[in-house]
Amino acid sequence: MSQKILIVGAGFAGVWGALGAARVLDGAGVTSSDVDITLISPRPELQIRPRMYEAEPQNMAAPLLPLLDAIGVKYVEGSVERISVADKTVNVVSPDGQQHSLAYDRLLLTSGSKLSRPAVPGLERAFSVDRIEDAVELDEHLDRLAAQPATTARNTVAVVGCGFTGIEVATELPKRLREKFGADARIRVVVIGSQDEIGPDLGVNPRPYIADAFETLGIETVLGSRVVAVDAQGVRTASGQHIEAGTVIWAGGMRASPLAAQLSSNLDSLGRVEVAADLRVPEAPHVFVAGDVARALTDDAGRYALMSCQHAVVMGQFGGHNVAADLIGAPTLTYRQPFYATCVDLGEWGAIYSEGWDRQIRLTHAEGKARKQMINTQWIYPPAPNRADALAAGNPLSSFG
Ligand SMILES: Cc1cc2nc3c(=O)[nH]c(=O)nc-3n(C[C@H](O)[C@H](O)[C@H](O)COP(=O)(O)OP(=O)(O)OC[C@H]3O[C@@H](n4cnc5c(N)ncnc54)[C@H](O)[C@@H]3O)c2cc1C
Repeated sequence: MSQKILIVGAGFAGVWGALGAARVLDGAGVTSSDVDITLISPRPELQIRPRMYEAEPQNMAAPLLPLLDAIGVKYVEGSVERISVADKTVNVVSPDGQQHSLAYDRLLLTSGSKLSRPAVPGLERAFSVDRIEDAVELDEHLDRLAAQPATTARNTVAVVGCGFTGIEVATELPKRLREKFGADARIRVVVIGSQDEIGPDLGVNPRPYIADAFETLGIETVLGSRVVAVDAQGVRTASGQHIEAGTVIWAGGMRASPLAAQLSSNLDSLGRVEVAADLRVPEAPHVFVAGDVARALTDDAGRYALMSCQHAVVMGQFGGHNVAADLIGAPTLTYRQPFYATCVDLGEWGAIYSEGWDRQIRLTHAEGKARKQMINTQWIYPPAPNRADALAAGNPLSSFG
């Protein structure tokens, strides 16, 4: 009977994890009758989450079945509800609601993250750009507003959250709103942040460029102000200010998949599993974790991976490599990714591209935008579904890292 590798999740870590695992087996001459790899996710597609702030979000997914087929990885459509480390099984709920159990010899958990939605009254009224379903809902809402008479509320969007996602969604909005509401519409975009700076986690170097882009695009900010309620007319802040807005977009940070808590009690403040150097879970040695669900060291200087697709792809390659290597008795690799870059889209202003953890700015405006478009339309898409290219893309030591 064949041994089984299960991969849970078809995000960046899961897809590159499947490529990494298949590459190891191929290199070792192990066939699928000896070891089979199965990937489980709710849909057979890679949702390109970094593009959810853009127009036409319904197009932001890449099909996976031809690619998985090319590398001999099976696919199961469903959602894992429970992981039993003691029995080495996962419990899967199929789209028709049926439950079944799948056994594994090695498991790679890559179930990612979700937008965190704290207990703010009325938050269910807010839109988001977390997943395709959310971004499409926002887009359809804006289309419905376009058919209504122009009012201040109709033309105003409040973006709650001034981190990476809040900045990208806000700076893209003036163009998207003008396309929907008309070139002469009096658009208002207000970014509300609980901290005193825009992009608090981005550090000092990007800030002047972001401020310049906001000014150029006419984006307003309300900083140092927490949103305490969302209502039909807009949002209310802790200081009592009410901002009238027909559209509220919540961009308040991410939280790791709850499956993490089934593997370990050693979780960080984002709910991520603290993993060993080879991405293994110390308390569950047959389980490896990669992507947004893992807290992993990227270098010897004590820097941890961020919830980002650049880290998820490379962690996926290492996780896939290690889950397969461990099963066939080959040595595992220490996950390392010392190179770090950031590219922030700033709408019609352009984009900024920086390198290093202190984010030294390398490209701005149109040059930065060209880099962002390259990343968003090429680099983060899965390889073509031919076996040689696909297996090569699974190599953790040739990556973008
Ligand atoms: C609007 C936005 C902009 C972003 N911009 C950038 C950017 O510019 N640069 C950057 O590096 N990062 C960016 N990110 C972050 C990046 O998208 C994430 O860090 C990345 O998607 C993480 O990859 P992942 O594979 O760990 O998880 P995900 O991409 O979240 O994938 C998780 C997968 O697991 C599946 N899954 C979840 N639960 C289960 C379950 N119970 N059973 C089975 N399958 C399950 C999901 O369906 C999905 O297939 C952005 C994110 C957003 C939302």
